[in-house]
Parts: sequence; structure tokens; C-alpha cells
Amino acid sequence: MSRRILITGGAGFIGSHLSERLIAMGNEVLCVDNYFTGRRENIAGLFGNPRFETLRHDITFPLYVEVDAIFNLACPASPIHYQFDPVQTTKTSVMGAINMLGLAKRLKVPIVQASTSEVYGDPQQHPQQESYWGNVNPIGPRACYDEGKRCAETLFFDYRRQHGMDAKVVRIFNTYGPRMLENDGRVVSNFIVQALKGEPITVFGDGSQTRSFCYVDDLVEGLIKMLDTPPEVSGPINLGNPGEFTIRQLAEKIIAMTGSKAKVEYRNLPEDDPKMRKPDITKAQNVLGWGPTIALDKGLEPTIAYFRKRLAQ
Ligand code: NAD
Ligand code: UDP
Ligand code: UDP
Repeated sequence: MSRRILITGGAGFIGSHLSERLIAMGNEVLCVDNYFTGRRENIAGLFGNPRFETLRHDITFPLYVEVDAIFNLACPASPIHYQFDPVQTTKTSVMGAINMLGLAKRLKVPIVQASTSEVYGDPQQHPQQESYWGNVNPIGPRACYDEGKRCAETLFFDYRRQHGMDAKVVRIFNTYGPRMLENDGRVVSNFIVQALKGEPITVFGDGSQTRSFCYVDDLVEGLIKMLDTPPEVSGPINLGNPGEFTIRQLAEKIIAMTGSKAKVEYRNLPEDDPKMRKPDITKAQNVLGWGPTIALDKGLEPTIAYFRKRLAQ
């Protein structure tokens, strides 16, 4: 069934891949973005497609459009960008959620919220299950993002309970792939760009902290499966790849795969940097029949190729 699907943050990294996939499946996509961290070139391949439409708009303001389903992805995702204007980050998560929930309520359509593993903060449970309430510093530099996303989850569950809506939440763990911004400070893009330029690979702390990296195509598949669940399914559901690596291992892997002569340099660990992160995806497997299929080595290949091409431009 072809639907018209609104994607907020549709010109961003994940949003552009989701737009392409939904269009390829025969849907119409309305991409709403204020281009804070998104780029028109991410969606340039869809320009001219009569089933693809864009609207420059900031979701902290009301939006009146007619659609059949909504993915709410708008929000800067990298620490550098979400800390650049922290008040706007909280507004985007909270006021943006209210506006998009108000829209979904008027239209009586399903809405999926892109929440994050950051709601677990610096977790004291490992791996993280959805039932874990998290360990978040409410006044630290990451709070605008973490608490904003936590409040958005609250709103999704209150709109569900109060208005009987089909509002759903997925918690996305570190995702990587082509179209990450080369300057947004996230570890995969940073290390690849540094390795390709032969610049020092900047490992923060001693590099023993862990992350679990999901390739964007896998993630997009999980998002679409979530939208297609019956209204009883609310989540939250973790979406991520449970393969866990230390940041030092990631640096070594990227140096080896790029054939770079770059050396590792150790820098101060940022405040409130989570020490470990790995999703328990039992719920995604049972409820969505979803699990990642692309191992880190496999996913790094096209990602490195993407940055190699961009740096050559
Ligand atoms: P991104 O920065 O590439 O995309 C976010 C998009 O939202 C950008 O296009 C940006 O311009 C847009 N945007 C920001 N504020 C807006 C506003 N007020 N109004 C309209 N558009 C706005 O990041 P991404 O990695 O693609 O992340 C997409 C979503 O997934 C975010 O909500 C993020 O929190 C979530 N997420 C991502 C990851 C990850 O590892 N990439 C992990 C957890 C959660
Ligand atoms: N809203 C929107 N588009 C719509 C419907 C609502 O942007 O199609 C916004 C509206 O500005 C409102 C918010 O969503 O502030 C929440 O809507 P809701 O109906 O829950 O609340 P209310 O209108 O009663 O404040
Ligand atoms: N990191 C690093 N060097 C960098 C960028 C990040 O060592 O150049 C570390 C960072 O301290 C964190 C991990 O890599 O421990 C993941 O960072 P990222 O900003 O990608 O995501 P998040 O902290 O939100 O998981």
C-alpha cells in the first residue's frame, strides 16, 4: 500500500536513507527539515521524483500538512551539534514532539519517534534493556539532548494514554554510514576522515570505552518494521547492533582498513561520556522480527569509500 509519509529531519544522515528506502518501496515522502545539520545534497538523488517533496520548516513551530504516517527524526545527533545551541536542541525535542504529536492526533495516523540510547545516560546496566531507566545527569552538557529525548518519550506515552494514539518509540544506538557529516565529531566519521587525511586519530580518554555500531541500512529496516506494527505496539524498542568494540579497537580497525599511516593521539575524555554501550535487542527480534545483518567490517567499507570520494572532491 502506497502512503504519504512525513519524515522530519529527512535531509539528515538517517532521514535521507529512510527517504530513499520508502520511495523505493513505492511510497510518497514529504521531507521536512530546517537544514541545521541536514544537507540538500543528501536528498539530491530524489529531486525530480514526483513522489518526493521537501519543505524547509523548523518543527518547533506548528505544521499543518496531510500525511498517512510520520517519522520524527528532526534533532541534531552529534555532541558538537547538539551542544552548539543547547536550548534549541531541547526545543526541537520537546516542542517538536508536541507539534508532531498534535499533527498525528489531528490526522489519526501512526507516528514513530527516533529516541536514543542516550536516554540510558552513562548506564549501570550492561547491555541495556528497554526496562532500564537510565543514569542521566540532568544538568550536564549532554542533558539538552538526553533529557530532551527523555521528555519526548514521556510525551509519546502520554499522548498514547491520554488520546489513544498510535505513537511509537524506538531507541537508536550509534549508527554510521555514508552521509555522516565529516565535521560533526562523531567517532566513525572523525576516525575515517583523520585516517584518510593522515592526521592524528583522536582517541578520547584511554579508548577503553565501548560502543556498538549499527550500519544505516539495517537501522532503516528496523524503523520501517516499527511503523508497520499494530497500534498496540508502543515500544520503546532498542534498535542497534550488539557487536561491541572499544574505541581503541575501532581506531585500529579503521587505520588497517584505510591503509593509513596516521598515529593514534590520546585526548581528554569529554564530560559525562558513557563508559559502555551495547543494546539488548531481544525485544526487536521478538516484536519486529528484526536484527542487524551487516557486521562492522562490512559496513565500514562503503562508509570509507564515501568519505574517500568526498575528500577527493
Ligand atoms: P542528523 O543531524 O544527520 O539529522 C537530523 C536532521 O534534523 C538534520 O537534517 C537537521 O537539519 C534536522 N533538524 C534539526 N533540528 C530541526 C528542527 N528544529 N526542525 C526541522 N529539522 C531539524 O542526525 P541523524 O544521525 O540522521 O539522526 C536522526 C535522528 O536519529 C535524530 O533524532 C537522532 O537523535 C536520532 N539518533 C541518531 C543516532 C545516530 O547514531 N545517528 C543515534 C541515536 C538517535
Ligand atoms: N499542531 C500542529 N499541526 C496539527 C495539529 C496540531 O502543528 O495539524 C500543533 C499545535 O500547534 C499544538 C500542538 O500541535 O500546539 C499540540 O496539539 P494538541 O492538539 O495536542 O494540543 P492543543 O492544540 O490542544 O494545544
Ligand atoms: N570519540 C573519540 N574520538 C573522537 C570522537 C569520539 O574517542 O574523535 C569517542 C567519544 O568520547 C565516545 C565515543 O567515541 O566515547 C563515541 O562518540 P560519538 O560522539 O560518536 O557518540 P556518542 O558519545 O554519542 O556515543
